Amino acid sequence: MITHPCGQLSPRGVLDMGRRCPHSCTFCFYSFYDNSDDQFHYLRRAPWVSGEALRRVLDSFVSWGLTHFDYTGGEPSLHPECVEITRYAHRELGLKGRMITLGMFLLAPRQRGGVLLDDLLEAGLDDFLFSFHTADPALFKQLTGAELDKLHRVMDHLDDRGFSYCINIVVSSLNEQTLSETVAALGGRRVRMVNFILMRMDWGLRNRPNIAIAKKGRLTHTIRHLTAAVDLLNQSGIAVNIRYAPYCLLKGYERHIVGYKGLQLDPYEWRNGTLAASEGVPYLKCHTLDEHRHEVVPRFENDPVYKLVFGPQCAGCGLRPICDGADAFYIEEFGWEEFVPYAPPVIHDYVHFRHDYPGVFLMKEQPHE
Ligand code: SF4
Repeated sequence: MITHPCGQLSPRGVLDMGRRCPHSCTFCFYSFYDNSDDQFHYLRRAPWVSGEALRRVLDSFVSWGLTHFDYTGGEPSLHPECVEITRYAHRELGLKGRMITLGMFLLAPRQRGGVLLDDLLEAGLDDFLFSFHTADPALFKQLTGAELDKLHRVMDHLDDRGFSYCINIVVSSLNEQTLSETVAALGGRRVRMVNFILMRMDWGLRNRPNIAIAKKGRLTHTIRHLTAAVDLLNQSGIAVNIRYAPYCLLKGYERHIVGYKGLQLDPYEWRNGTLAASEGVPYLKCHTLDEHRHEVVPRFENDPVYKLVFGPQCAGCGLRPICDGADAFYIEEFGWEEFVPYAPPVIHDYVHFRHDYPGVFLMKEQPHE
């Protein structure tokens, strides 16, 4: 493992393989993306990005000085050139990739024998980020349409090899009560980081805000369950990130928070943008720390895709410069009463709370770590 310096730009790009996906994750922010009444219409029909375009994006990562990347989609393990792209990235370019996946197809048999997972590992794949939203198989099926048992078998396979990996848990009103049991079920596995994502209501979900709000639920309730799960992970020494939460609802847990404004400084988040990547167009969102502060951060306050707002109490809050505020739809539904500002001094450092938290900056250097 090596430690990425706190406060430096992320070394990680995103390789968007195409949005095609057979899963039915109920909180997916590509839901209703094409404004169809069928929540997953877009995901079932989205094209894959060509192998040629993916290689072009990977070449750009090298030219930009990026060393790591995440595969995303859709379900990237279904891309027809998944293994070949992995071999190119790792064996020819020396990059380190982490695949974001539900894991359902990794033990699928290959024409030449063996399973996809073995071919990916042989091609050099460095890391996984599995979506393990609950340890309850029936709820997992309800949330994703997929079989939790298959994901357990994939993790068994990696645990046996001493291969560590990361976990994504999208947190909503649907699974908040199971969070402690969910992280407890990961005990004994080679999990080195858990990433809680408070359900977002942007991208396609902007087309159906009422549905999104009903699933997201009330933050105060969610956070009571979330902090209990974070406490368990802290006791077991597993690193924890929490995405997209206003600081003032997680007082005492600030070191775990990475919002939109902090993404470019998190080594497990992406320096290049997904939309351009999904079209195979290389594009670097942020080149320098100065650009991060003066160009990238202000965009999050104004971009209608994110629709972030600040209340009257935020004006005097000590964390106003580094906080994302709240989702406008959430505030329309529930108001500002849960949000209690911080007293001065005013903090401008986006990683102010993370300097003494090295676990979230550890980067895997070898697959068996
Ligand atoms: S800026 Fe607003 S939302 Fe953010 S921590 Fe302060 S009071 Fe809470």
